[in-house]
Amino acid sequence: MRKPLVMGNWKLNGTKESVTALVTALKAPADKAAPKAEVAVCAPAVFIGMVEQLAQGSQLQWGSEDCDIHTQGAYTGENSPVMLREFGCTYAIVGHSERRDYHKESNEYVAQKYQAAQANGLIPVLCVGESEAQFEAKQTMDVIRAELKAVIDLCGIKSFEKAVIAYEPIWAIGTGKTATPEIAQSVHQDIRAYLAQFDAEVAQGVRILYGGSCNAKTAPDLFKQPDIDGGLVGGASLKAPDFTAIIEAAVANA
Ligand code: PEP
Repeated sequence: MRKPLVMGNWKLNGTKESVTALVTALKAPADKAAPKAEVAVCAPAVFIGMVEQLAQGSQLQWGSEDCDIHTQGAYTGENSPVMLREFGCTYAIVGHSERRDYHKESNEYVAQKYQAAQANGLIPVLCVGESEAQFEAKQTMDVIRAELKAVIDLCGIKSFEKAVIAYEPIWAIGTGKTATPEIAQSVHQDIRAYLAQFDAEVAQGVRILYGGSCNAKTAPDLFKQPDIDGGLVGGASLKAPDFTAIIEAAVANA
C-alpha cells in the first residue's frame, strides 16, 4: 500500500517569525497523521536549519526545494545534496516547473539532480507536467513521458522505488485553476501505466502526488482518486489551518 504524502513547497516565502509559527503549528497535525499519512515541508535553503531545530521530536519531515548535481566545489550559490542531508532533509524537489522555466533546466539536467539527490540519501520528488498550450494540444503525456524517460535512462526504472513523482500541470500552479479530480486521476493513471511498461511492481509502488492549486476545498475530492497519493502544495502550505485541512483530507482517504 502507498502511504499518502502531503508536502508543502514554500517557494521564496517566509521570515524567521512565520517559519517558527508555521512549523510549530504543523507538528501536532503531522504527529496525528503519522500512522496514516506522511507530512513534509520543503523550505528555502536558508531556513532549513531552523526547520530542523523546530521540527525536532515530531513526525514532521522536511526537505529542500531543489538541489545541485555536485556534492561540493566551486558552484557559487548552489546547495549540495550532502549538505541538505546534513541538515536532516528527507526530500529534495527536483524539476519544479518554475526551475525548468526560469532556470532553463532541461529534462536531462533534472535527471542529474534526481540522481545526485538519491545518491546522497535524499528522496527526490520529481515534478512533471505540461503547460496550458500543451494541455490544449493534448500533449500532456508526450511531455511527461519525456520527463520520466530522461530519469529512466540515467537512473533506471528501479530508482523510482526510492522516489516520489509530483504531477503538476503548469496551468494549475498558483493560478487557482485546479485540475479536476477526473483530469488529475487520468494523468496519474497514465503515468503509472507508462512506468509499468518498464516495471509493473515499481509502477504500483511509486507515490504520485498532485500539485497545482491544491487547497482545503479541492484536496478531499482529489485525494479520493485511486492513483493520487497526496499533494504537493504551494500557496496553501503557507497557512497552517489550510495545510492542516489538506493533511486531514489525506488521512481521511488513506
Ligand atoms: C507548487 O508550486 O508546487 C504548487 C503546487 O503551487 P500552488 O499550490 O500554489 O499552485
